[in-house]
Order: sequence, then C-alpha cells, then structure tokens
Amino acid sequence: MQSPTTITSVGELRALTENWRRNGQRIGLVPTMGALHAGHLSLVALARNRVDRVVVSIFVNPFQFAPHEDFERYPRNIEEDYTRLASAGGTDIVFAPPLGELYPHGFATRIEVAGPARGLEAEFRPHFFSGVATIVAKLLIAATPDIAVFGEKDYQQLLVVRRLALDLGLATEILSAPIVRESDGLALSSRNAYFGTNERRIAGQLNRVLGQVATEIQSGVSIAEGERSGQAALLEAGFDTVDYVAIRDAATLSQLDGPIGNMRVLAAATIGGTRLIDNMPV
Ligand code: AMP
Repeated sequence: MQSPTTITSVGELRALTENWRRNGQRIGLVPTMGALHAGHLSLVALARNRVDRVVVSIFVNPFQFAPHEDFERYPRNIEEDYTRLASAGGTDIVFAPPLGELYPHGFATRIEVAGPARGLEAEFRPHFFSGVATIVAKLLIAATPDIAVFGEKDYQQLLVVRRLALDLGLATEILSAPIVRESDGLALSSRNAYFGTNERRIAGQLNRVLGQVATEIQSGVSIAEGERSGQAALLEAGFDTVDYVAIRDAATLSQLDGPIGNMRVLAAATIGGTRLIDNMPV
C-alpha cells in the first residue's frame, strides 16, 4: 500500500488536484484538526469509496477557538497521524499547512453563516462557526474537491457547512458520516484524551442520556419535558455543567412547537473542564 505524501503549501495542493482533474480523477477532501482516531478514519474510508483521490487536511484552526479555549493545549501529533493514515490506507495526500500559509499577514476576511449557525453551539462559542466557515471555505477553494466528508459528531457544523456550500455555489458535494463510538457509547473525540478515569466514566453517560431523551420523545413526552429531563439526568450522572439538551428539527435545527417530523436531540456538557458534544436522531 502506498503511503500518503505530505504537502504544506496551497500552491502544491492546487497543482496536484489540477493534475488529477485533468486526468479525469475525482477528488475527496476530509478536513480535520489532527489527533486522528477511528472516527476520522471512517470519513477517509467513506471518501475513498466515492472518489479516486483523497486529501486529508490537518490544521488546528486558531479562529475557531475563543481565547479561553484549548487552542494551545489541543493535542497535536502529526507523526502519529501520518502513521495512522498510512496504515489505514486510502489517503493520497496529507495537507498540513503552517498557519501563515492559510492566514497571510493582515488576513481580514470572515465568512458568517446565519440559519443553522444560530443558537446551540453558537450561544456558548460565539466565534466558532465563523472560524469553521472561513477555514472550510478556504480549504474547499484550495482543493476544489468533488466531495468533502464531515462527521455527524459535529451535527450543527455539518449543517453549517452544507448551508455554506449551497449559498456560495461551491461545486463540492458535502457528505456526512455516522458517529463512531467507544463501546460505552462515548463518541470518539480528540478531546477524550483529557479525561481521567472517573471523568471518562461519567463522559460515557452522555450518549445514554441522549438515548433516554429520544425514547421519551417517541413515547409522547413534550419537547420541553424531554429537554428538562435530559438536563437533569446529565447533572445527576456527574457532569459539572450542561450547556444545553435540545430537540430540534433535524434538517434546519430550528425550534419545534411539538414532536413532529425528523428530529435530532443535541447536547453539550462539561466534565472536569472538558466540554463534550453529542447528538442522535429521535
Ligand atoms: P475534528 O478533527 O475534531 O475537527 O474533526 C474532523 C472531522 O471528523 C469532523 O467532520 C468531525 O465531525 C469528524 N469526527 C470527529 N469525531 C468523529 C466521530 N467520533 N465519528 C465520526 N466523525 C467524527
């Protein structure tokens, strides 16, 4: 199996993708912030099944972190990431640019999405979706892929990226991949590395509680009551704070008058200083 080639400049990425396209090859992009795990590898596998060439970007994007968040502490291990991608197979190019390559001196442009980027995560991380939208737009413009794959793990982000691609008329099809979980249901996340043993045990309860809320809604409990009982159950399980437990329209994330149509339950909660998000269909 061929190992991926690492490139660090947008110019090189353009030259390679233009060449592939000239040869009739379809291209897939998997944007990541590194510290790769089986969830990321599932995105690569999905891309690989659809296209001839796969680019995995690894870039810890400073603009999606608030000053008090964990940008400095965020796990970075490019060598390990590379080894993981090489042994999983399916990646042609690892695009790992330095900061200045994507944000030249004096960088002053931001992309703001409304619609699905309002509420939920945005209430607690006001800079987050503008940071995500700006970097994703830059990566999509640089790589001009036929498809780009995003995880349902970051469900609101997925809808924001879909909106962005549609609104900007980008030619890239946005695909989603299901959440990969540990055996107790905890969604794999690079931030799970922060947990001590007891925190890790509590973290596993997030998925269980979301499942409980989904079942309650299906059995006729109101939206408000489902959200309230989910919040209480997370605090009971040992989470320090619960930012939200919300049952929303699955396609738009807008608030619901009652339990109708395709719904999604989403939650964010903190344990031992680490903030977790998760979601599932209702
Ligand atoms: P990140 O490196 O955390 O920015 O994630 C990069 C991509 O991987 C995003 O599209 C995430 O939604 C996706 N992802 C992260 N964790 C998981 C998981 N457990 N299952 C599926 N996709 C995931």
